[in-house]
Amino acid sequence: MRALITGGAGFIGSALVLRLVKAGHEVLNYDALTYAAAPASLSAVADAANYRFQHADICDEAALKQAFDSFRPDVVLHLAAESHVDRSITGAGAFIDTNIAGTFTLLEAARAYRDRIGERALRFVHVSTDEVFGSLGAEGRFDETTAYDPSSPYSASKAASDHLVRAWARTYGLDAMISNCSNNYGPRQFPEKLIPLMILNALEGRALPVYGDGSNVRDWLYVDDHAAALQLIAERGEPGRTYCIGGEAERTNLQVVEAICDRVDAARGPRSDCRSRIEFVTDRPGHDQRYAINAERIDAELGWRPTLGFEQGLARTVDWYLANEAWWRPIREGRYRGERLGLSS
Ligand code: NAD
Repeated sequence: MRALITGGAGFIGSALVLRLVKAGHEVLNYDALTYAAAPASLSAVADAANYRFQHADICDEAALKQAFDSFRPDVVLHLAAESHVDRSITGAGAFIDTNIAGTFTLLEAARAYRDRIGERALRFVHVSTDEVFGSLGAEGRFDETTAYDPSSPYSASKAASDHLVRAWARTYGLDAMISNCSNNYGPRQFPEKLIPLMILNALEGRALPVYGDGSNVRDWLYVDDHAAALQLIAERGEPGRTYCIGGEAERTNLQVVEAICDRVDAARGPRSDCRSRIEFVTDRPGHDQRYAINAERIDAELGWRPTLGFEQGLARTVDWYLANEAWWRPIREGRYRGERLGLSS
């Protein structure tokens, strides 16, 4: 593949870049390097002959045209986004700009490029979230037929971008596919998200703030399993198709935080007693209660399943943060110090 990856300096994007470059594919990482980017995540491939980087915004039409014409991709994997629900509550503007207007600008650039090079010569994989479906009660799972019902400015902006991609596939014949994936975790995740935030707070002896009563359920997927699914969709997905992706690992937020505590205690010794530092704090406004995914379609059609169980993946993740302080310390002492985000007033 010649893969133009947007957002390749972010958490999932970097896992995908590492995977594709190591497999010998040609990769252009197109990224604006916002606060959420971590170029250090890509140090293993920075000098590879089949990797290049363009520092640019997906809202920049001219830069996109230049990227398409100079790199000549056969697939776009679109991950660039504002991705943190709490930040969308206090400042939705950047989410509208990047997730909606940016996706529109990218779709138009892809369509124009496709028209220049010939019908069906470009695939487009739009990476979205299960949050577009809103909240579940105690029963049921999301699948590709679930109606959209987003709750947060983040999920509403992602829902809008999904609608644009579907319309560009139907109206302009763009060879586009959409993935709706559950919560990811793993190495190199920016420490504003639940799992890395709790790991670092646990390591530093700080309080572990759990929203509400900790009963909200998420279906957790290890990031490399998500990257594998995206590669399969790019290679063999059916044009116009949507794929739901999940980890078969539903856990309450409290269960997740307790599991992190136990792993950190095991590494640091029993005196670390992380569980005693769990605190219940004011809930997130509009907090969805439960997400769960039925991933039977991608299993049946593309043969994808999660390979790593949650306990294994979480242990690997905690151990990665323990071993890679040089990656997270500059973030933690610089652009995000662990403060509470996302209280609406
Ligand atoms: P992230 O916040 O870690 O990274 C986003 C990347 O996009 C950063 O490198 C940032 O610099 C770049 N970016 C942001 N705005 C840009 C712009 N205007 N132009 C170019 N680059 C820009 O995000 P992530 O967690 O890796 O998520 C990647 C994608 O996967 C997003 O589209 C997100 O909605 C989706 N997703 C995430 C999860 C999850 O659990 N993290 C789950 C399902 C889907």
